[in-house]
Amino acid sequence: MVQLPQINNQELPKTEVGSYFVANYPPFSVWSSEHVPAAAAALDGAPRTDVPLGLYLHIPFCRKRCKFCYFRVYTDKNAGEVDVYIDALAREVALYADRSALNGRQFEFVYFGGGTPSFLSSQQLTRLIDRIREHWTWEAAREVTFECEPGTLKRSKLETIKEIGVTRLSLGVEHFDDEILEANGRAHKSPEILRAYDWAREVAFPQINIDLIAGMVGETDDKWKRTIEQALAMEPDSVTIYQMEMPHNTVVSREAKAAGQAVPVADWATKRGWVDYAFRQFEAVGYQVSSGYTLIKPEQHNGFVYRDSLWHGADLIGTGVASFGHFAGVHMQNVDGWQDYIDACRAGKLPLNRALPIAPKQALIRELVLQFKTGRLDAGYFRGKFGVEIRREFADAFDSLGAERLVDVDGDSARLTRKGLLQVDALLPRFFERTFQNIRYT
Ligand code: SF4
Repeated sequence: MVQLPQINNQELPKTEVGSYFVANYPPFSVWSSEHVPAAAAALDGAPRTDVPLGLYLHIPFCRKRCKFCYFRVYTDKNAGEVDVYIDALAREVALYADRSALNGRQFEFVYFGGGTPSFLSSQQLTRLIDRIREHWTWEAAREVTFECEPGTLKRSKLETIKEIGVTRLSLGVEHFDDEILEANGRAHKSPEILRAYDWAREVAFPQINIDLIAGMVGETDDKWKRTIEQALAMEPDSVTIYQMEMPHNTVVSREAKAAGQAVPVADWATKRGWVDYAFRQFEAVGYQVSSGYTLIKPEQHNGFVYRDSLWHGADLIGTGVASFGHFAGVHMQNVDGWQDYIDACRAGKLPLNRALPIAPKQALIRELVLQFKTGRLDAGYFRGKFGVEIRREFADAFDSLGAERLVDVDGDSARLTRKGLLQVDALLPRFFERTFQNIRYT
């Protein structure tokens, strides 16, 4: 039995209110509306053929707002309003089909994210896909991922999800302890997880992932151990484990601030210890660590097309309210207001709100920090693509990581140690340009 590490909580950094996860570069806080014309110009350029193209569809509905959630989601929309949104979303995807830089291109990967994509009914889903198919070839996608909340699933809905081409189902389990699920405001309970998972296996999706979170409010060593035991028993094709962060706009952050107290979430070293424990348990039965958050069952896994494409500079059309995209070197994000989004799509205008064209060095840093989340970097890749020796260009960052025994460098290979991998997001700002190192991230 692998033992949980003993932690001296007095010496460790607390979980403060704020963002920790590095999802992109440069930081979102420097994207702005003045750059939206650059996004439009990129979409009106010559057709691009040298990078894969993906589609992200944001379904911003949830049954209930989790107390740690910081996404743009709605819990109060009725069926008619959901229909209005689906219509706008289909129109937005169609608008992209008319842009010259997208002529003749097909989606290599598609991601239904949320919110809760499985909040949609089978009829709504089928209608959305039928509308998209009027403008895009859907069948070319090598991977179609669909996020689900267990309590929204029925066997018949899972059959529809499979029929629309989904190859990878991602189940938002988060935890198996009902008290913890309740305390964190999750809409589902553990019996719904097991029932949904059995149905998903019966329907035979090629890949099933389960998401867990280490450090939910109320977490203990014993509860985490039992959750990992239950996750192991399910034998998912992959498991994703996030460490709980607490950005400003969550219910937990607001309640803690109002009470003048710290957020009731374990410190970072404890959370890393829980993830390390989970990694070792899964590795003991044959899983491989695929990033700072992910384990895969190697014999049943051919990689993540969405993740790996994005982390190597693919184009992504981000559709839906508040969605993020990246096209031909320009970051872009949609408006985050419901009516603004619906009105723009109805008027035949892309609902872009802010953008940022990035310089070649920023594209390099973006790929470097994203790829480092796998725990590995290959200097040869960056030499070939950007003509830059990353060991020399980022000597200070590599040297400091090496001095702290967080990275091992050998020739072209840089590998994070397990200690480094478990805190990878906290290390990545060392590679940022100086002007972006101490600014607000989101
Ligand atoms: S299910 Fe996900 S998107 Fe919905 S409220 Fe919870 S954390 Fe937010």
